[in-house]
Amino acid sequence: MNIWNLIFLFLFYFMTIPISIIIYYLNKIYVFVYIFVLYTGLSFCCTLCELYIPTLIKQIMPVYGAHLKLVYANMLMTIFTVPFINYTTLYDPIGVFMLRIIGYLIVSDTLFYWIHRFSHTNKHLWKYHKKHHEFQYPSGITAIYAHPIDFILTNLLPFLCGPALFGYSLHTLIFWLTLVIFNAVISHSGLNFPIYYDANHGIHHVKRNVNFGFILWDKICKTKNDN
Ligand SMILES: [Zn+2]
Ligand SMILES: [Zn+2]
Repeated sequence: MNIWNLIFLFLFYFMTIPISIIIYYLNKIYVFVYIFVLYTGLSFCCTLCELYIPTLIKQIMPVYGAHLKLVYANMLMTIFTVPFINYTTLYDPIGVFMLRIIGYLIVSDTLFYWIHRFSHTNKHLWKYHKKHHEFQYPSGITAIYAHPIDFILTNLLPFLCGPALFGYSLHTLIFWLTLVIFNAVISHSGLNFPIYYDANHGIHHVKRNVNFGFILWDKICKTKNDN
């Protein structure tokens, strides 16, 4: 956790307050609209940056073609989670907010690490997960380029289980989704952006047998690789 991470976490905290208020007074369907706009806008910005940084040219894949259909099919699938969004309050007190986010991080790191690692070693699961590995040097927008079954197992399940288990206010949910989307998109881009804990996911795409998670489990299981 460096100073930049803290600055961005503060920024996300305050940025998501007006967004949460707007969604609170409109309709929960706008949670879906928000993640759609955030993912699209952020990955488009990443692509533009990657295009203009010569050392990252090799990371640019022809993703703005047929591949985008799968990206947006997965994105559209998240609309089915909207009926299950069930918040009663707009904000959490700061202490509850922090405890919940820590809980989400522990649950998501654990589930993501083990489901992801198992997806590499189990031949039935690899059949689905290998789709995501078509890109050895992915681009931001390919963060959710995955077989829909793999997307449910390694994305939706690990990152939505925390809120389902520990509860959420609308603001806590929006903050969490913002953090998850930023991490997913940035960790698949070639950009060395200071806010992400999934710093070595790019190496996972090259070597495939390291960096299955993002916080703790890679260190515990000695699967962390920084080179
Ligand atoms: Zn993988
Ligand atoms: Zn990936």
